[in-house]
Formats: sequence, C-alpha cells, structure tokens
Amino acid sequence: MKIAMVGSGYVGLVSGACLAGFGHEVVCIDKDSAKIEKLENGIMPIYEPGLADLVAENVAAGRLSFSRDLPSAIQGASAIFIAVGTPSRRGDGHADLSFVYAVAEEVGRNLKEPAVIVDKSTVPVGTGDEVARILSLSGAPEGTSVVSNPEFLREGAAIGDFKQPDRIVIGAEDDFGREVMAEVYRPLTRNQTAILFTSRRSAEVIKYAGNAFLATKITFINEMADLCEKVGGNVQDVARGIGLDNRIGPKFLHAGPGYGGSCFPKDTLALLKTAEDYESPLRIVEAVVKVNETRKRAMGRKIIEALGGQARGKRVAMLGLTFKPNTDDMRDSPAIAIAQTLADAGAEIVAYDPEGMEEARALLPEVTMAGGAYEAIEGADAIALVTEWDAFRALDLDRVKQLATAPIFVDMRNVYNPDQMKAAGFTYISVGRDSVC
Ligand code: NAD
Repeated sequence: MKIAMVGSGYVGLVSGACLAGFGHEVVCIDKDSAKIEKLENGIMPIYEPGLADLVAENVAAGRLSFSRDLPSAIQGASAIFIAVGTPSRRGDGHADLSFVYAVAEEVGRNLKEPAVIVDKSTVPVGTGDEVARILSLSGAPEGTSVVSNPEFLREGAAIGDFKQPDRIVIGAEDDFGREVMAEVYRPLTRNQTAILFTSRRSAEVIKYAGNAFLATKITFINEMADLCEKVGGNVQDVARGIGLDNRIGPKFLHAGPGYGGSCFPKDTLALLKTAEDYESPLRIVEAVVKVNETRKRAMGRKIIEALGGQARGKRVAMLGLTFKPNTDDMRDSPAIAIAQTLADAGAEIVAYDPEGMEEARALLPEVTMAGGAYEAIEGADAIALVTEWDAFRALDLDRVKQLATAPIFVDMRNVYNPDQMKAAGFTYISVGRDSVC
C-alpha cells in the first residue's frame, strides 16, 4: 500500500519509517526544506534512538522516500496521514489547528483519486468534521474519507511504542476508512495488538482523555511527595505500595519536578478549552494544570533553599535540560521554569544535557552550556539533577565533591540513594523522601 505522511517531525518520521518497515511504500513529506534535505542525505533532524538505522534500512529497501512537494507525493496513496504540529495557540491555550487545516486544504486541492485522510496529529474533538468540510470545499474527490488515528508513542522509546503499541485507536465513519486502516496496521494484528474501532469523535476524545489521565497520575504522586516531605514518609515506598494494586498500576508514579514536554502541557490546556466551549467543566484536569504549573518554579525555589535561601552570586550546575531522557525535545521542559527561577534570584547557571543543548541555547540565553557533566559541576555551589539521563546515574561522587565548591546535591528524579549520598558527604535533597541529610 502506498502511504503519504504529511509532517516529518517526531511523530511523522517515526510513524513513516515504521510503516515502511511493515512493508508499505511510504513517502514522508514536509514543508521544511532543510529537514527534507537532511533526510535525503541520511541525517536525522531529531534525536530518537534507533531512528537513523530504521530510516536507512527502509530507504535502502526502496520503501521510504522524502518529499517537499505535497501535490505530487500524495498521488496514488491510499492513506494520507496528517502528522503536523498542533501547539497551544498563543494567548488562549486552544490547540492551534492552522497547520492541520492548511494540509487538509492543500490535499483537497490536489488529490486526484479518493483516499483516506488520517488525522494522526492530536486534535480537539470535532476537528475531523472540519477537515472533512475543508477537503470537500477545496475539491477533494467524492468518496474521500476522514479518519482519526491518534498516536500514543513516547519520545525516546518511539519506535518500540509504534511497533508494539498497547492499542491502536481508529475513529472512522465509513467502511472505506475502516478497511484502509485495517490494511495499514495488518502487520500488527499478527502480534495480537488490540485495534479499537470507534467513532471519529470518540477517537479524538480518547487521545486527550489518555494524556489528561497520565498527567493526573503524575501530579497526584507529586503532591503525595510534598506530603511525604512534611510528614516524614518516603514517596517511592508510597508509589510502590499503591502501584502494586492492579487497579492503580506502577507506571507514572515517579515523583519529580512536574510534567513537561511537547504533549501533556498543551494537551491538558486544549482539553480544558474544549470543556469550556461545551460547558462541561473538567475540574480535576483544571487542578492538575494549576498544580503542575506552580510546581516547576517551586522546584527552582527548592534549589535556592538548598543554597541557604540566597542564590545571588551562587553558581548552580543543572544536569539535564530535556523534559525526559533520550530525546532532544525541550518543548515545555520543567528545566526552563527552574532555570528562570534561579536566574530571577540572581544565580549563575551552568548546564549540561547529552542531547538537548542545541535547542536549549535559544530558550535559555541566561544559561551557560558546558561540555560535560563534570565541567558543569566545576565550581558549583549546588548541583541539581533535573533529567535522569543514564549519564547522570553513576556519577563519580568523589570527583563531583572535589570539583564542586559545596557538596549540595538536589536530586529531582530520586536517582541516588539518600544513605549513600550522606555517607559520601553530600547535603542531599530529593523529592518526597526523608531527604535532608
Ligand atoms: P513536530 O513539530 O516535530 O513536527 C511537525 C512537522 O510538520 C514539522 O516538521 C513541520 O515542518 C511539518 N509541517 C507543518 N505544516 C506542514 C505542512 N503544511 N506541510 C508539510 N509539513 C508541515 O511535531 P510532532 O512532535 O511530531 O507532533 C505532531 C503531532 O503529533 C502533534 O499534534 C502532537 O501533539 C502529536 N503527538 C506528538 C507526540 C510526541 O511525542 N511528539 C506523541 C503523540 C502525538
């Protein structure tokens, strides 16, 4: 089957490469010429483990190609995926659908044979109806179908998630849509992947409901961590104690500096806007968004407290900047608010991140980027572990102590063992544990 993937970012490129790996003929399209040029030269525009090899393999096999010319690239495709960004609209937090609608319009103007237009971008309920309307107005052939197929992959583990998903959700309103989508994912039915067919609107709601639920789980354990700090509990024991209950489950119960990234912050906000528009308040999600927002700066203040309440003239080493390890994505990373809080208080910040520094430079002009973890630590009055990259899991603690001006270690991911850190001579502060040594 020929498939066109419009938008070759984290989702489009990974999905396109994986679908080519299933045996389909895939063309990944992007309007960003620099991106397509890189891909044509075998250079990955993003960091995602395993992606370069997967792309190279499928290009060599003749199943994967790249194009900046949508009108010609979509011809003959049975499924045309829309995988462009849906960021928060400036000012009001609604999902900005202008990229999605622009693609629908361009596809409608150029499509010669009926095809299934698959919305993979995360979009508010009802967007599929609007895409169908735009396609029809701009001249798409009769019989063109619009399907919602939300994506659940996680950056850093995207290929595994795409190839072995917990489930695939397909929201379709007609047999043409359902049949083409069944064919797209047929290779996955061999490993018994659950494929859930729903209405288009249900599929759109599923994506936001899923992300809002996960954001709630994270925020819940973060508040439990705060309580543990006050009452002398250990949030890791609490998480394990509740997570072993099958009804709760152990995942997404890691206390930390608050959720960030390219999805949860914008998707929870967009969901609240939908709720507002339909006068159906989502008070739990409202609370989650507020609690998470205040948490990020509170984490900055935690570092300032560790410095004795005064950050001016002090130097802080930040280890990790991306919102999670194994990605270069800096979008809405808690590190941004943490660094800003420190900078507002007059601290000098030196940071190191294995993959995120290029993106971070533009977002954090007040932060000096170091060439490695130990370089960042040199002369620091406090060290803050912000993202749990493997590279920070086994630091040479003697060396850290020697290089730092003061052995103050704020571990926002609970990577280290408090007793060991105490034995190694650190003032060690973590999240939700009996932390001050
Ligand atoms: P991205 O910003 O990495 O990629 C989007 C790409 O679309 C860019 O390369 C951009 O140049 C291209 N584009 C925009 N308009 C275009 C047009 N008219 N024609 C051709 N190309 C165009 O975004 P992303 O992270 O891949 O996210 C895409 C969608 O998937 C979003 O709705 C997001 O919410 C959703 N999603 C993302 C993730 C994730 O982990 N990143 C996971 C699940 C769902």
